Amino acid sequence: MRCPFCNYEDTRVIDSRPSEGKKRRRRECPKCGKRFTTYEVVEKPQLMVYKRDGSFEPFDRQKLIKGIQNAIKKRPVSVDDMKNLVDDIENTFANKMQTETTTSEIGDMVLMGLKKLDHVAYVRFASVYKDFSDVDSFIQIITELSDKKK
Ligand SMILES: [Zn+2]
Repeated sequence: MRCPFCNYEDTRVIDSRPSEGKKRRRRECPKCGKRFTTYEVVEKPQLMVYKRDGSFEPFDRQKLIKGIQNAIKKRPVSVDDMKNLVDDIENTFANKMQTETTTSEIGDMVLMGLKKLDHVAYVRFASVYKDFSDVDSFIQIITELSDKKK
């Protein structure tokens, strides 16, 4: 579990107790000395993903990783960065005890993560996932990115 203050990877658990189906953990960062609390779901609920055509399937971590891998090919995004992104997405649903989502909700979460990691990967993922059927939405995404740089 990373320290939310300084991003140090190896934080210590100083207290752990169950809390409403979750584990409440008090952690301390040995690097910056700050303390924080995490709630970890002991057992993740099965997440169902609804697709645009109305069909649905269980959340498939490997499939999501494959999609992201295509986007980050030959880009300076590490395997760890990618795994952290997928973990974050899974944990977001698990911590809310959410059991249903849509491909577009997951896609938006991936895009938010990639935006911070690498803009080329972001545009690549967006082009597949958003299925740029119209030129306007593509231009909008590119414009958003160049606005950010200013
Ligand atoms: Zn820290």
